[in-house]
Amino acid sequence: MFFTEDFLHYVWKFRLFDRENLQTTTGEPIEVFSAGLQNSDAGPDFHNARLRIGDTTWAGNVELHLNSSDWHKHGHASDNAYNSVILHVVYRDDHPIVLSDGRHLPTLELHDRVSSDLYNRYHNLVFGNQQIIPCEGSIRFVDDITLRNWLTRVLVERLEKRSMAVIAALDKNRGDWEETFYQFLAANFGFKTNALPFELMAKSLPQLTLAKHKNNPLQIESLIFGQAGFLEDDLTDEYPKSLKEEYSFLRKKYNLAPIEKHLWKFMRLRPQNFPTIRLAQFAALIERSNHLFSKVLEIKDIAGLRKLFTDLEVNLYWETHYRFDTASKSLSKSLGQSSIDILLLNTFVLFLFSYGKHNQQEYYINRSLKILEQLPAEQNNIVTNFDLLGIKVNTAFDSQALLELKNNYCNYKKCLQCGVGNKILRMT
Ligand code: SF4
Repeated sequence: MFFTEDFLHYVWKFRLFDRENLQTTTGEPIEVFSAGLQNSDAGPDFHNARLRIGDTTWAGNVELHLNSSDWHKHGHASDNAYNSVILHVVYRDDHPIVLSDGRHLPTLELHDRVSSDLYNRYHNLVFGNQQIIPCEGSIRFVDDITLRNWLTRVLVERLEKRSMAVIAALDKNRGDWEETFYQFLAANFGFKTNALPFELMAKSLPQLTLAKHKNNPLQIESLIFGQAGFLEDDLTDEYPKSLKEEYSFLRKKYNLAPIEKHLWKFMRLRPQNFPTIRLAQFAALIERSNHLFSKVLEIKDIAGLRKLFTDLEVNLYWETHYRFDTASKSLSKSLGQSSIDILLLNTFVLFLFSYGKHNQQEYYINRSLKILEQLPAEQNNIVTNFDLLGIKVNTAFDSQALLELKNNYCNYKKCLQCGVGNKILRMT
């Protein structure tokens, strides 16, 4: 058998070994009441295990190794953190461990106690020759409840990780949710290609400044395009010229400095996605609503959220332009449905979750998950591959969870820490 320490931990954690007549290597009977809590930090592998050795009941730490001689190799003999170990669990006892006070460290050898069936399943799962994910041959047989529970758990893990960035930004913004939301929404308006300049532009132009001009679309547009660096050139069309004029006044008034125009990328983008068009749409959104985050907290259904973005009144100039001073065929520049849904997914869902988590209000966490269940699944290779393996991907809830599962579990073969893997290993 090619045992790994991970598998040994798994076998101990779930007590998947033959527990009949369990004995230490010196013949004392053992009864395991609790395997303890796995410790991922420094120190013994499991804390707070409870067991009986001979006539004595113990509560304490358990250390695991493939070979008992690893105790010395890992320097535990001279490390006080290991003085409290009550049991050494090993795959092979190749070297009895005698402690400094002359006692034998009680040792349990699991070599003959793990079923070959369990081992073979583990081996096939983690070391098999797979194309997509390690459990590709078995995942379709995992029951819906197990799969659903696990996907919910990894989805929450994903949102928790992503919400850390929201809370860090919230701290920088002195607890101002509106400003933080505005900055994230702006970054997401840049989608993948122009997220950074959009974010820099928003950070250089506080939402409160924009709010002072809420009844003057031209001023809002001049502030946004000006801070984005697009009004630094000589411009000839009337619309950009008037933006430039407004901006030169407002720039002085608020002591603003624009970001570098060269940060914006147009290459390989379809004209509808040019940053100039996205900035015009962003300006239209700001003109339509301020205090957007308060609205997001109030709106209860996905239709209401989508409505915030629907039919944004982008300045007419953009109907016939994709850039300043370059005319094009007339075309509406409203945000498309799929772009709206991406914004809901990446900003609204994340903020509802982060707000709920930060304020310990389950209601908002549940609402964020509910919205994910109403948004369509994204289309990408990961989703296509899970679909091929027989996993139904109906909504963004599924696709986001599968993305997290693939990128943070399957890719690292963390099958022993995965609810799906756990089920597969124990299927009868
Ligand atoms: S991590 Fe889970 S879902 Fe991914 S391959 Fe392993 S068992 Fe399957």
